[in-house]
Amino acid sequence: MDSDEVENPHNGTSMAGTPGDPGCLADSPAPPPTPVRGPQSSESAFNLEELAEVVCLGDIKLAMDFIQALRVASLDDEHNRLSKDAVECLQDPPTAPVDPSDRDFRLGLDLFLTHLKSSQETYTLTREAILRRHPDDNIPSYDQMKRRISEITGVVPIVHHMCPNSCLAFTGPLAKDEACRKCGHPRYIDEHQTPAQEFYTIPIGPQLQALWANADSAHNLSYRRRKTHEILREKACNGGTIPCFEDFLHGNEYLKRVRTGDIQDTDMVLMLSLDGAQLYAHKASDCWIYIWVVFDHAPDARYMKKHVLPGGFIPGPNKPKIIDSFLFVGLHHLAALQ
Ligand SMILES: [Zn+2]
Repeated sequence: MDSDEVENPHNGTSMAGTPGDPGCLADSPAPPPTPVRGPQSSESAFNLEELAEVVCLGDIKLAMDFIQALRVASLDDEHNRLSKDAVECLQDPPTAPVDPSDRDFRLGLDLFLTHLKSSQETYTLTREAILRRHPDDNIPSYDQMKRRISEITGVVPIVHHMCPNSCLAFTGPLAKDEACRKCGHPRYIDEHQTPAQEFYTIPIGPQLQALWANADSAHNLSYRRRKTHEILREKACNGGTIPCFEDFLHGNEYLKRVRTGDIQDTDMVLMLSLDGAQLYAHKASDCWIYIWVVFDHAPDARYMKKHVLPGGFIPGPNKPKIIDSFLFVGLHHLAALQ
């Protein structure tokens, strides 16, 4: 065996010693299959000790508690952390697009976007320089600009506490815990309940609403509805078969949901994707990000960076151990909207 190979302790075979995908959430290689002996075995019916080693009822119970909380999710239950204003905006959205004739706002927006890779101070100094020459202008401050952009894009963060070792988030059935159930680290660093670590979730509702608030964007979102009707017509003309499978929308699972009415014209279809993100060239993943892909967009637009919506960010240093607890915030919000 080469020195850069390691022996797999489970099956005795060797495998390359590369670390694999650093973003992979698996803790370790899959355990060996546990032989289960049936009642006809000559030995005792079930080896309870072996069974106890492979079954972890606590984790199953916790997963069930998360599922139960999602089943009854609503925008006014204890798990919703959106502000009152954001909930009102979700239920009663603005009906007019952003006014492009506001020249001060437009100047502020141009400055903000130009200085995206600079510091906040650069924006402020440039703004002050313009105001010295044109004191009557009403260019928004950096904070005002951030608020306006948040309103336009629908990107509003929700902040929750988490274990500083990245084990879990204090959400759902863990919301009232004061220490990590995995490593025991306290949730707070002082008696003022200052959290040891926080993570950010970007709820999907306001972002989808923002997509519908622009005429061009709304037209792009109608792709799925138009294409679905086209596929169904084509299918009917071909005796129930689809001549060419081009996309997810041609798939049997999707069309079955359309036929049963689970997915309707006015619904939106989303895909959630989670992976590790390597923020530094020579360091393993130390941040996990999940995103939403909007399947109402045409396939050539769907995966473009500007159309992929942020879901949440889970900081390192370690791999999350109870991933449900981090995803719960975004999924609870989605379930409440559903
Ligand atoms: Zn922990």
